[in-house]
Amino acid sequence: MLAIIHAELVLPDRLVPDATVLCDNGVIVDYGKDVAVPKDAEILDAEGLYVGPGLIDIHCHSAGNISYFDDPVTSCRSALEHGATTVFPTLYFNLTGEEMIRDIDVVLKANEKGLIPNFGGFYTEGPYMNENHGADRHTAPWAGEVLREKYLPVLEKAGEWARVWALAPEKGADALFPFMEDARRCSPKVCFAVGHSEAEAWQVDEFIENGLTIATHHTDAVGYLSKYPECRTSGVVEAVQRNDEVYAELICDEHGVHVDPYVIRLTRKIKGKDKLILITDAACFAGACIREDRKKYRDLSFDFNGELAGSKLTMADACRNFLIHSGASVVETFLAASTNPAKATHLTDRGIIRKGKKADLVVCDDMFRLSAVVLNGKVVK
Ligand SMILES: [Zn+2]
Repeated sequence: MLAIIHAELVLPDRLVPDATVLCDNGVIVDYGKDVAVPKDAEILDAEGLYVGPGLIDIHCHSAGNISYFDDPVTSCRSALEHGATTVFPTLYFNLTGEEMIRDIDVVLKANEKGLIPNFGGFYTEGPYMNENHGADRHTAPWAGEVLREKYLPVLEKAGEWARVWALAPEKGADALFPFMEDARRCSPKVCFAVGHSEAEAWQVDEFIENGLTIATHHTDAVGYLSKYPECRTSGVVEAVQRNDEVYAELICDEHGVHVDPYVIRLTRKIKGKDKLILITDAACFAGACIREDRKKYRDLSFDFNGELAGSKLTMADACRNFLIHSGASVVETFLAASTNPAKATHLTDRGIIRKGKKADLVVCDDMFRLSAVVLNGKVVK
């Protein structure tokens, strides 16, 4: 039994000052004011800091500058120490099918041994995305026709651990709806996202009608085909904004490079507090920034061409940057960094402080400086 005392508790709709959370057998068994602390309980004194649900990073290629697929144990541990009690290691569409299968295998083996307790499943950027909108675009192993015999072994290897498949709708419904059907068969709770795409809005709408619910790093790596150079055509961004049911992932870096702070505020206004998902998109490409002001951008990742390729953020950094750029409250920031990603990906056992939910918690100040992390009711940092 773990008792977290003197907590400023973060619930989805309010704060509860000077509260207690009791955790037993990996779940939250009680919380609130006037909760009696059993004599034999281990005590964690939050000293008036915020205690919110553990952060959930559904889109991340690495942590601590280590790829999840090179060293899942060290990278998962690093993410955990920075507040991510659930991570979805993310595959990228520069990999061949064989490489994807090998990478999935590395992570699943570590998981079977119980070495990566914050592993929640896989997010896959690909295989069917638009090669014109991605880093590392010189390799395009999935360009051309969508072939069942090519993708099926990857779907089968990931099995129920596949949580999100991102795709580019312009590849066409005829080609990709069968892929979605097969993906659902292999992983019934899987979600679909639109990303690395230059689809027109109507094409995205068609996929939303077929169950697409997430926008991969909203506003990044998407383009649109303009019918006339003077005019703006509606594309992925507009479709995501118009369809209320779609969750928008946001990469909030310190200087607002991935998403301009004005656009963060605009997206928050349009999508509302329940449809934003903070992600790190952390990556460890070894390229150098070609921009002159690169010294400023310590939290960004660049590919060998010097092109922007994800971030070096932690989830705690992402929360702090979102809070600063948008003016959102701590309550709303925890919605975007825990409750919403859990809901979006059907992780119904976590992402909220409630009796019976997984005892994954973080203790932090008003700028998301972490002082403790709790996973399955155990203090891990
Ligand atoms: Zn991406």
